[in-house]
Amino acid sequence: MSQHHYTGAILSHIEGFGQVYDCGNCGNLHVQIGPMNLTLEPRAYMQLVDMISTSAANFETWMQQKRVHQEVRDDNQERYSS
Ligand SMILES: [Zn+2]
Repeated sequence: MSQHHYTGAILSHIEGFGQVYDCGNCGNLHVQIGPMNLTLEPRAYMQLVDMISTSAANFETWMQQKRVHQEVRDDNQERYSS
């Protein structure tokens, strides 16, 4: 059996925020944000990516809806307070 050494790799990195990397030893992916470090199997990592990107899309929609409701509420307040 040949002992293979595979080195890790930084897959993504944002200065001052965090990084996603493969340490090269455990076969998992590591998501590091500030002092927090998540270790995930590749499949779980892909689920996390999917979950995060879905939440980002939903967040934008939700913020837009909130803005619309806020505008309606502001209109009503102006009408009733004067
Ligand atoms: Zn590792």
